Amino acid sequence: MVEEFKNEKFIDFLVPENHQKMELALKEVKQELGKEYEIIIGGKKIKTKEKFQSYNPSNKDEVIGILQQPSHKEVRQAIEVAFEKFKGWSKEPAEKRAEYLFKTASIMRENKFKLSAWLVYEVGKSWAEADGDIAEAIDFLEFYGREALRYAGPQPLTKIPGEKNELKYIPLGVGAVIPPWNFPMSILTGMTSASFVTGNTVILKPSSDSPVTGAKLMELLEETGLPEGVVNFVPGRGSVIGDTLVSHPHTRFIAFTGSMAVGLHINELASKVQQEQIWIKRVLAEMGGKNAIIVDEDVNLTTAADGVIASAFGYQGQKCSACSRAVVLEAIYNKFLDMLVERGKQIKIGSPVDPTNYMGPVINERAFKAILNYIEIGKKEGHLVYGGKAIPGPGYFIEPTIVADITSEARIAQEEIFGPVLAVIKASNFDEALTIANSTMYGLTGSVYTNNSAHLEKAKTVFHCGNLYLNRKCTGAFVGGHPFGGFNMSGTDSKAGGRDYLLLFTQAKAISEAL
Ligand code: NAP
Repeated sequence: MVEEFKNEKFIDFLVPENHQKMELALKEVKQELGKEYEIIIGGKKIKTKEKFQSYNPSNKDEVIGILQQPSHKEVRQAIEVAFEKFKGWSKEPAEKRAEYLFKTASIMRENKFKLSAWLVYEVGKSWAEADGDIAEAIDFLEFYGREALRYAGPQPLTKIPGEKNELKYIPLGVGAVIPPWNFPMSILTGMTSASFVTGNTVILKPSSDSPVTGAKLMELLEETGLPEGVVNFVPGRGSVIGDTLVSHPHTRFIAFTGSMAVGLHINELASKVQQEQIWIKRVLAEMGGKNAIIVDEDVNLTTAADGVIASAFGYQGQKCSACSRAVVLEAIYNKFLDMLVERGKQIKIGSPVDPTNYMGPVINERAFKAILNYIEIGKKEGHLVYGGKAIPGPGYFIEPTIVADITSEARIAQEEIFGPVLAVIKASNFDEALTIANSTMYGLTGSVYTNNSAHLEKAKTVFHCGNLYLNRKCTGAFVGGHPFGGFNMSGTDSKAGGRDYLLLFTQAKAISEAL
């Protein structure tokens, strides 16, 4: 009997023993940087002529790992292997498939510190953010394992005299799993495990900014004894191999999380039926956001300012859920702005290997340049009240940046920046604040700080976003408690970590027997 699902506890790094363990893990991982990782197809490890490297964004000359760049040939080969493997794997009992998730969770738990250390180096997460990522990956494994058992059980149907009826959830086929780098272990693990626990087989293509983290999951899956070919690891640039993976006639579904531009491209390509294709491909596309926090005039300003700062600058604003717009009521606008600036000044930036740094680097040069460009645009659209500069050094560090007096139509209020840039917008009343909050093409997360119960009730119906938070920050969703996914151009609202999620990886078969 499997115990009830509980969220994994976060590590308290203030406990000296935990602090020492993390320091040791960082030292150990440092020794392992620069290794080469192979493509894995049907358990076979393959090296290609062409390679690419993953770099430390805090220290851009430090190579985290060397990866193979597959050609279209390897991608097709992986799909064919997964297609063959599906024939057997799809028939395995749910209990057996779920067991691999529970085992992986347990090994991940034993290796938490080291896995977190990999994230500190590969994607510039602080200790706490890295631990949160690993904890969420464990949660996905534990939660989806239990969910698979639930879906495998008897499903309620209306009784029809003279018949024995049942409904079974069966798998779809080969899935292309395409995650982003910003939750390199949790999203990658969640989408991969949801795919295979339901009986599908997988081509896992990690982000080119975090391929080593993907390789670490493959090592864990190998350790659990997951049969070869169930998950095939094909790291490589999305712009080079993505279209082959998505358009192949044997690809049955695509589980994507990433930017709107790539998500829409995948959706369009997947909708085109290829020769020999005998299904409509299913696309799960979880995309970007332009999330707002409304700060009402009747509120504890300290709590609200802390919430906005944590939501805007935690992990350098590189969370899809991050707050990039603070919509502040006129009556408290100036005071609240001062409080934000005060808090911005206290943020320490630098390599996340040092746990006293709250903010680390942004992910790569392209993001670094794009964010600085948005800051220049913001300076013209409003008033820069804090930050705005890059920090010289070996990494991609940018100050937490606050731009005030932004209109709701401004580019920095409409376009996803995906970095530490907060646009502050004034609203004359609560209704106007809600209109501003709803004025972008996105609809991922949102939050309202208010003591006014009528405003809270109004926000529940009017604020159009997939994850609405009241009197708390808009980041930090918990598996099970906060099923996650957005509306409009934020995606297909797949609600990762929720009870509907596994349905998306299955199709229901109704069987009716005359008695
Ligand atoms: P991205 O550039 O869209 O990349 C996401 C994934 O797509 C990567 O693995 C990427 O591979 C791959 N890719 C790129 N071009 C492709 C193509 N033509 N065909 C198939 N795959 C392709 O996004 P990102 O920079 O990694 O992540 C940041 C974005 O993700 C932000 O917009 C953020 O809001 C969003 N996000 C959303 C959620 C959510 O739950 N809604 C969660 C996290 C992040 P390469 O790395 O090789 O290019």
